[in-house]
Amino acid sequence: MSDTILTIADATKRYGSVLALDHVTLDVEEGEFLTLLGPSGSGKTTLLSAIAGFAPLSEGRIELRGRDITHEPPEHRDFGMVFQGYALFPTMTVRDNIAFPLKVRKRPAAEVKQRVEYCLGLVQMEDFADRMPTQLSGGQQQRIALARALSFEPQVLLLDEPLSALDKKLRADLQWELKSLHDSLGVTFIYVTHDQDEALSMSDRVVILKDGRIQQEGEPDTLYNSPRNRFVADFLGKSNFLQLSVKAREGDALTCAIGGTDFAVKAPGDVPSVDILQVALRPERIRLAEPGAEMLDGTVRQVSYLGERCLVMIEHEEAGTLMISQPTWKAGVTPRAGLPISFGWDADAPVILTGEAA
Ligand code: ADP
Ligand code: MG
Repeated sequence: MSDTILTIADATKRYGSVLALDHVTLDVEEGEFLTLLGPSGSGKTTLLSAIAGFAPLSEGRIELRGRDITHEPPEHRDFGMVFQGYALFPTMTVRDNIAFPLKVRKRPAAEVKQRVEYCLGLVQMEDFADRMPTQLSGGQQQRIALARALSFEPQVLLLDEPLSALDKKLRADLQWELKSLHDSLGVTFIYVTHDQDEALSMSDRVVILKDGRIQQEGEPDTLYNSPRNRFVADFLGKSNFLQLSVKAREGDALTCAIGGTDFAVKAPGDVPSVDILQVALRPERIRLAEPGAEMLDGTVRQVSYLGERCLVMIEHEEAGTLMISQPTWKAGVTPRAGLPISFGWDADAPVILTGEAA
């Protein structure tokens, strides 16, 4: 068990009639990489600003290792920050930018010099110390912003979409770097993004927000494999949504049906006792086969080739339209638009959705 560094209890933030945070309760563990993920307007920046001390809460409490910091100004919290629009100082060199937080804290000159060198090394920018920010690319500027935020050895680093302005390839490289920087420094990272791939690939734990409320939190694979409501299943990866009629149940083994076809569904955990189950089915969990060879028969509507995989849209009389993703290198059949096809899945593929959107 690791220790809790931050406790957020019933945090609520109103901007006039807008409820930006609605009773958010969350513990942040010492040293973890925690990501706040949600669509635009879900309250991510507001929550991060509340943690930083820039957005005072309307209600609720924030504690740092058990100490109430709800009303403490940002400079007393001493968190590192890499925010959108929290740019480098344009009139200072790279070196002076990184030194700035240390000078504000009146650290001795020798220590400032040593920390600046160390932080330049962390972000692999040793050769750029004397440049001005305008002489750096976007990715290089973000590296310096990161070095500046880490220079005074903060216990928590807050990052608000730090990579969103960068192109895809550079973003992927910096994701790896940020992750390995986190792992080697042991600093607690609270990272905000609206990009699900970024959240899944970097985080120890992800908190999914919508309309200022936590929908679900957990490790990336838990969230992906066991979304509790439709919003999470849809926001994190792609899902098909199906209604299954329950014919029989024995422990965690259910017999369900779509139209006249019965099949087994494995249901670990709580299953609502209803006649119709709402389930999410990932596109990569559906198998395609020659007509008649699998559980259900349908028609191929569209095929989209993506290189490593192929997306196939099929139509079934009762199930409706389904998206299937199959690796091109081991495709069992070659689907063609307009032709019949058969499809099925394993008993543990459908995920029973037990929660309404919070
Ligand atoms: P996100 O970062 O997830 O996109 P925000 O936290 O910025 O979301 O915003 C959450 C909600 O609060 C939105 O509806 C937004 O319009 C509103 N909001 C954020 N900041 C302010 C502000 N300073 N004044 C009024 N409304 C705000
Ligand atoms: Mg934001």
